[in-house]
Formats: sequence, structure tokens, C-alpha cells
Amino acid sequence: MTRFDTFVMVDWSGGNDRGKAPKKDAIWAAVVRGGVAEDPVYLRNRQVAEDWLHRFFAVELSAGRRVMAGFDFPFGYPRGFARAVTGQDDPLVLWDWFAERIEDAPKANNRFDVAAEINRLLGGKGPFWMNGLQRDIDGLPRTKADYANPFAERREVETRAKGAFTCWQLAGAGAVGSQVFMGLPVLARLRRAFAGQVAVWPFEPLETPIALVEIWPSLTVTDAPTGVIKDAHQVASVAGWLAGMAPDRLAGLLDVSAPEEGWILGVPPDGRAVPLQPPPLRNDCFALPAGVDWTPVDAALAMLRDRLNPVVAQDSVPLMQAAGRVLAQDLTARRPNPPEANTAVDGYAFHSSLLGPDTLRLPLAVGRSAAGKPNAGRVPEGHCLRVLTGAALPEGTDTVVLDEDVRADASEVAFRGTLKPGANTRKAGEDVAAGEVALGQGRVLTPADLALAAAVGHGQVPVYERLRVAVLSTGDELREAGETAAPGQIFDANRPMLLSMLDRWGHAAQDMGRVPDDRAALRARLDAAAEGADVILTSGGASAGDEDHVSALLRDAGAMQEWRIALKPGRPLALGLWRGKPVFGLPGNPVAALVCTLIFARPAMALLSGAGWSAPQGFDLPAAFEKRKKPGRREYLRARVRDGRAEVFRSEGSGRISGLSWAEGLVELGDEERHVRPGNPVRYLPFASFGL
Ligand code: AMP
Ligand code: MG
Repeated sequence: MTRFDTFVMVDWSGGNDRGKAPKKDAIWAAVVRGGVAEDPVYLRNRQVAEDWLHRFFAVELSAGRRVMAGFDFPFGYPRGFARAVTGQDDPLVLWDWFAERIEDAPKANNRFDVAAEINRLLGGKGPFWMNGLQRDIDGLPRTKADYANPFAERREVETRAKGAFTCWQLAGAGAVGSQVFMGLPVLARLRRAFAGQVAVWPFEPLETPIALVEIWPSLTVTDAPTGVIKDAHQVASVAGWLAGMAPDRLAGLLDVSAPEEGWILGVPPDGRAVPLQPPPLRNDCFALPAGVDWTPVDAALAMLRDRLNPVVAQDSVPLMQAAGRVLAQDLTARRPNPPEANTAVDGYAFHSSLLGPDTLRLPLAVGRSAAGKPNAGRVPEGHCLRVLTGAALPEGTDTVVLDEDVRADASEVAFRGTLKPGANTRKAGEDVAAGEVALGQGRVLTPADLALAAAVGHGQVPVYERLRVAVLSTGDELREAGETAAPGQIFDANRPMLLSMLDRWGHAAQDMGRVPDDRAALRARLDAAAEGADVILTSGGASAGDEDHVSALLRDAGAMQEWRIALKPGRPLALGLWRGKPVFGLPGNPVAALVCTLIFARPAMALLSGAGWSAPQGFDLPAAFEKRKKPGRREYLRARVRDGRAEVFRSEGSGRISGLSWAEGLVELGDEERHVRPGNPVRYLPFASFGL
């Protein structure tokens, strides 16, 4: 059972704050319930936090919701520790052992004494170290000078989580040892208070309404926006990440066997590298400035660009399968290209010191150098050697003369000595030096990129997971193409168009079908889409009319913005978050749906997919048409190029699907343009520049 309704993620603290004002190193909890994130909660000390969690669990249980509660400290110790202390391997017995001994009050606690007690039990030199108090404690070293640890320094999971601290260190910046001492007793008590309702992962099967899991916020990318406390931001990131994760992926991450030590949720159990997780989108990411009537296209684009970030995790694929994927990290050359100096032609290699104005006659040395079969040994001074394209330059040579420029017999080669030193050779690393960034993060890998990656030594490449984009059409009038249509019905034209565009852009398109103009049905379909996808594209129902249910639902969910954009064709656009997933509510009209997808959804999805923002590259051409236009809005016309001039479709009717099909690109008329005359330069954006 890996379906959870509520996620609460807690950043625990070994210290205790007695003040009222939020402090950065107290306890923070972040909640996502039903896909909706709440503001992080400030819990100023462990007593407050325990009460809060108690009440929180009670409320969720009585509402019948399943809860995943995460805490950022180890749930277990390296193998052997539990038995040494309690006589049993069961880490939950150790939890109770701690709960019996740890005394915790806002002003003082006995954690260092309990650590010393354990150390003394085990010989007095470890495993715990770093007494953080003024007074000395027998058996608890301040430094590692005379330290001995009978157990592993790290749990298995920590050997995979780069930068994780060991649980043995009790004090000092970043240490987690004290958090474990001060956290486990609280969890042990909660577990008893809700006996039978709480399961501790990965020690117990997750069949109860509440699951306690270990988290490590550093697994998510953690640039906190300015003014936001880092810990608060981190737990919010983890909560959003887990809440937004596809159930099968979450199930995969939970499928771990670590019966004694425990595990960090998010570290893949199968030994793969730990992927970095992106932070979730902010609730207000689609908010437009108040009081603006019609937002200019460029302002709307700038906002999207500012507020969206990649939402996909990292993965790694064999090079052969990497075309069209987005590179998740810079790819540096493992090897220079070319790896060694070699010859660019078939010919004869010799040393440039022999060059001169006259004809050279060089004795031919025995042997030859071919690609992959270098000559063994040095070419004797004053000699030349037969070489074939791609062959390593033989030792003692640095220049090659081309076959066509020589006269050769079995023992001698003659040619004019006026070549440049180094002619017809390639230097080692002249293309790419070792260690140089060959391909940058965010690149959508082309066939040529695969050649480059291969040349510099990569057989496996880090990529982002494909962006999963759900597509659904809305409207009572819609029928599926090929079915029979009654009067008043039309065929769904947007879905096949949108799905195939997504395919071309390398996203994982998910067909969510057609939905009638019915709010409950649409709500259910959006829920299903949000569960399995990272982004949702809808078409139809995006305006503010009676049957415009997409905008109405998003508005009710409190995370909707009606984007009135100064754009023709295409307004308005409904943008919002549904259960944390961005929704692009496109107009129903196929022409407007296409233009809005190209202009807004495409660059936004590129950003969400890790590829970064992308603006189409256009160019100016003389117009083959005349057009008068209202200033103050951007217009896109269906266009194509003939005889070096931009033609536009004979009708601007936004229902004219044949014009979309006729077009090979768009003409973009600037916001302030009023009158285009034949021959005037206009900006032409070929569909190819949109990746179509
Ligand atoms: P709406 O945005 O729902 O008001 O729809 C605007 C226009 O686009 C109406 O004429 C709809 O019938 C039409 N339309 C909506 N969805 C589609 C679709 N998927 N395929 C073709 N036309 C559509
Ligand atoms: Mg409609």
C-alpha cells in the first residue's frame, strides 16, 4: 500500500529553542494534504513538536487519511549496535531502550550522559564521541584522539548518500548523533500512543494508516528562496517531492530490505546512484501581477521563466538510448579527442626538421602505421614511414605528406619540401581536451551529441527522467476521430495534435482522453492525470463562460490564474496547479491551442523537463501580404515561405484547421505593429524552430 493522502515531513533538531520567534535551527514541519501544500509549521522545541504530531496524527486518523511522516534522522545504527546495547537485533527494541533513559526538557537533557553510559558499557572509547558540554563526562571523548569504534562508521545507506554524517558524532556543525538520541524516544512514544496504527519503515510492513519514514532533505535540490529559512524550505521540498511522486516510483523506493540499520527514503535500493530531486513548484508560480488587464506576451513569458524549475528526477541511460533525452549533468571529456596525435590522410610521416625549399628524397622505413595498428618503435632519423588515415603518428615524426603529392617506390619517397610543419596531422586534444565540458547540462541530446559523448569516453549518460505530460480534451460536443458524429458534434482534433507534438519534443505523452462538460467528471480526470503526470495540458473550457469548467475548477482549487494575454489567437489561457501539478488550460480552438502551446506551453515544459528555457529562432523576411492590425497585442499568423517571401494563410479564422496544416511556420507581428505592407520585413518562425 503506497498510496498516502497526507505527507508530513519534519526537520528534527538536537537543540531546543525556548523563544517565540522562528529560529533557523529549531524544528520545522511541512504538510502536503491531497496534493495541496501548506505553509511550513514552526515547532520551537521537541515538546511542542511531540504534542503537535500527536494531535496531527489523531486528526488525520479520524478523517480516515493515510499519512506518511518523515523525519530527518537515522532510525537505526550500523549493524551490531542494537544487539550490543539491548541484546536484540530489533531496532525498535532500541527505540524503547532510548525512550526509557532519555530525559528531555526544554532547558536540559541527558543525551551526553546516555551516550557515555553506552560507551562505558562497550569499553569507554566509543562509538559515540564529541562531548558538547562544558563538564567532562567519563567515557565520552571530546575529540577522536583516543577513539575506538567496534561498529562500522556508517550504515550501508550512508555509504551511498554523499555527505551524510555518521550517527556517532554528537556535536559540531552538521552532526546528527544528538538528533537520533532526542528523536527516537519521541517516535517510540508516538508509536505506542497509536499502537497498531503506526508502522516504522523499513522495519515493519506498511499496512497501517501511518507510516514513519526516514528522510534526508539533502536529497532534494535545496536553494531556498531569499527570506525563506533553509530547513523550512527543505522539508517543504521533500513533502512536495514525495506527494507528487508516481505511486509505482514511490513503491520502488520503499521496496528496501534493511531490517536492522534502516534506510533513507529516496536512496534507490538497487545500488543505482542517488538521484537529485528537484524542489516542487511554488503555489503562486502562475500568479500574475494584480491590476494588469491584458498581460503582454513577453511579460507572461518572463514570469513563467522566472518561476518554473525542473520537476523531473535524474536518471542514467546507455548512450545508445540517449537521443532526445535531456542531459542532467555536464558531460566532461574522460579522454581528449583525438586521444593522440594522428594522421588526417593516407601518406608518409616524417619529421619536420627535414623540410626545406627543395625536393626531399626520404628513405622509406620498414613497417607502417594504420588506425588501431600503430607502428612499433621509432622511425629512424631522416626516414619516412607509410601511414593511413586515423593512424597514430609514429614516434619520431610530426608531419605527413599526402599520397597524391609524392612519387614513391619500394625504398624511397620523393616530394617537395615546402609543407608546413605538422601538415596533415591532428594534434591530441585539438578538438576537445580531457576534462573539458563537452556537453552542458540541459542539452537535449542530438545524434551528433551522441557521437561527441562517445568520442570522449561516455557509454552511459546522466539524463533527466522524461517529463510526463497528460493531455485531455474537454467539451460535450467532442467525438473521437473515426467514430460517427451526430449533428452538433465535432471530432476531437486537439488531442492527436498535442500528443504528437509532445512526442516530438521528447516528453512522455499520456493520453487522458475526452471529458464531457461536467465538473465532477473533469475533477476525477484531472486527479487521475495529476497522479501519473508531471504536467497536464487540457484544451477547451478555459475561458470564463458557463461551460468553462477547467477554469472554474482551477479557480475553486485556489491555484488558478486566468491569463488574459495580449495575444491573437489564443486568449485566455487558464494556468494553475492541480494537486501540485502545473495545468496549462489551452483554448479549445485548434488554431489557438496550437499557438498557445508553441508560445507558452513549449518553453515552460522545456524548463520543467530540465532543458532550460528555449526561445524559437526566427528570421526576417519580406512580407508577401498586406495586413492592418490593432496595436497593443501580439499576433501570430499561419505562414510559409515561397520565393523568399513570407506568405500567410488566406483566412485568419481561428477555426480553420486547414490553415494550420497549410502552414510551415508562423509570422510574428510585434505588439505595436499596425500596418504591414508587401515587402516590409516580418519575423518568420519556422515550425522547425519550435522543434516540430
Ligand atoms: P471552448 O474553449 O471549450 O469554448 O472551445 C472553443 C471552440 O473550440 C469550440 O468551437 C469548440 O467546439 C472547439 N473545440 C474545443 N475542443 C476541441 C477539440 N479538442 N478539437 C476541436 N475543436 C475543439
Ligand atoms: Mg468547450
